Amino acid sequence: MIKYNLKCKNNHEFESWFSDSIEFEKLSIKKMIECTFCGTRLIKKSIMSPSVLTNEEKISKKKSLKKIQKMKEDLLKMRNFVEKNFENVGKDFPREVRNIYYDKRKNKNIYGHATDEETEALKDEGIEFTTIPWVNKRDN
Ligand SMILES: [Zn+2]
Repeated sequence: MIKYNLKCKNNHEFESWFSDSIEFEKLSIKKMIECTFCGTRLIKKSIMSPSVLTNEEKISKKKSLKKIQKMKEDLLKMRNFVEKNFENVGKDFPREVRNIYYDKRKNKNIYGHATDEETEALKDEGIEFTTIPWVNKRDN
C-alpha cells in the first residue's frame, strides 16, 4: 500500500491509499479518483517533502547525541552526589520536607519522590526544593 497526498483543481488536499504507484497512475488516467470534498475528478499528486538526511544533519545528530551523553554523565554525577550526601526518604519526601520546613530546628538534607500534585502543593506552601532528572545508572 502506498499513501499519496492529492490535490484537486479546487485546491482541496486529501490523502488516499493505493495498492501501488501503478494503480494510482491507472486510476488517475481514467479519472477514477474523486476529490473527497467537491467530487471533481481533476486530481493530481501534491508534492511531498522528501525525507533526506544530509551529511550535515548526520553530523549535528551525532553532536547532539554526544551532548545528551555528556548531560547524562553530569546528571549521574549529581545523582551520586545526592545519594552520598542526602538521606533517601523515598515516597515520604513531601511529609519529611514539611517537617523540616515547619520545624526549623531540624536541618538535614533529604531526597525522595513526589508526585506532580505533591510538588505543586509544596511550592504553594513556599517550600523551596529542587527537582532534578533522575537518570538510570545503567544504559538502556
Ligand atoms: Zn475538491
